[in-house]
Amino acid sequence: MTTSKNIDVLIIGAGPSGCVAAAHLHNQGLSIKVVEKNNFPRFVIGESLLPRCMDHFEEVGLLDCLKAQNFEVKSGARFLKNGVVCDFDFSKKHTPGWDWTWQVPRADFDVTLTNELQKKGVNIEFEQEVVAVDFAEDGSSKTTIKDSEGNLSIIEAKYIIDSSGFGRVLPRLLDLDKPSALPKHSSIFTHVKETKRPKGVEGTIITFDVVTDDVWLWVIPFSNGVTSIGFVGPTEFLEKYTGSPSEKITKMMELSTYYQERFEGEAHLFPPVEIKNYSKSVKQLYGKGFTLTGNSAEFLDPVFSSGVTFATESALLSAKLITKELNGEPVDWEVEYTDYIKEGVHVFSTYVKEWYTGNLQKIFFHRPENPEIKKQICAVLAGYVWDKSNPFVKNHNRLVKTVATVIDMETKNS
Ligand SMILES: Cc1cc2nc3c(=O)[nH]c(=O)nc-3n(C[C@H](O)[C@H](O)[C@H](O)COP(=O)(O)OP(=O)(O)OC[C@H]3O[C@@H](n4cnc5c(N)ncnc54)[C@H](O)[C@@H]3O)c2cc1C
Repeated sequence: MTTSKNIDVLIIGAGPSGCVAAAHLHNQGLSIKVVEKNNFPRFVIGESLLPRCMDHFEEVGLLDCLKAQNFEVKSGARFLKNGVVCDFDFSKKHTPGWDWTWQVPRADFDVTLTNELQKKGVNIEFEQEVVAVDFAEDGSSKTTIKDSEGNLSIIEAKYIIDSSGFGRVLPRLLDLDKPSALPKHSSIFTHVKETKRPKGVEGTIITFDVVTDDVWLWVIPFSNGVTSIGFVGPTEFLEKYTGSPSEKITKMMELSTYYQERFEGEAHLFPPVEIKNYSKSVKQLYGKGFTLTGNSAEFLDPVFSSGVTFATESALLSAKLITKELNGEPVDWEVEYTDYIKEGVHVFSTYVKEWYTGNLQKIFFHRPENPEIKKQICAVLAGYVWDKSNPFVKNHNRLVKTVATVIDMETKNS
């Protein structure tokens, strides 16, 4: 078994989280290695980004390679329910910052990131799976890697950033998993090459079609003519459907008055994938010698597309704090990492919970709209969930409920 020389940081996983962490650490001149279980390009879900993540790609020098791909521009999002349309436009949001991002086939997006990093000289090894990790008391580690032929090797590192997504390497190996506080929800999704895509905004805008109070359909058109479709709802709802995955999603499509016709008869480019009980949480976000980022740390729900943005936010912060510590400066991980990350997670968590209680939907679909409230919620949907000047961030816990109660009272009195 070979043992590689001691590096500063080993990054597990080459998704957006691992790539942003790697880019920052490489820019700081640290010795790093990324190990990735799969060969790229590979399919992964998480195709609608939020403007906030553009800050991260820009800061680490990964934005230009992405711009060159001409992905579908996402400048807002559409929500539909019972004939009411609620459009959010990111250029009309409370918080300053990016007002557009992309809708991306992740296989293409992620391989663009890894190609660019390799061009910059970052050492990324594919088909290398982390199977075990041993930590010494000082936090340094020996990580066992298995290649595609089953050969084992060891990497010694001062730090590990676990960006392994749903692989959740360190939560599994160190028993850090914790049940999510969110109700059990599941999803089924696939891609179609559209033959009936309408021209103009109808054919390009990302849409969340609420088909029953707690079941919704996403429609995410890409610039290559392919569209991602997926249903999300309580696990027991999805389990009611029988047959093959293609039969299940076709049957569910009958619930959508907006989309049934557009997708009727369209071939699924791969058998629909089902992910059950996708919400994940952990007991701690860091430990001596390691941090957890992205889905390896926490995953809430697809409804507000926060996954990739949370992955890049946590990755960049992890990388910065590790650099600081390696430079001999003290880091208060609880305050500088956990508290900051949890702040954003709590805001999104409120919006996810209130989406499924129906309170947020009341606000989205109430007419007439309140432009000020809409601007503030729009900033949350753009991923700017740390801006305390936004009342819908600062008072997220009570404001959504309060506004929904006022709407209820107005409706009763009208
Ligand atoms: C149904 C559903 C819909 C979603 N929709 C959206 C959306 O629209 N927008 C959004 O932002 N997010 C969405 N997400 C979340 C999104 O998928 C993730 O948040 C995002 O991909 C996280 O990025 P990451 O870099 O942490 O992990 P990933 O992108 O999953 O990358 C992790 C990498 O680690 C590798 N890996 C795993 N185990 C090992 C190992 N043992 N050794 C080495 N490498 C390993 C994997 O092969 C993978 O390449 C959705 C999630 C679900 C479940």
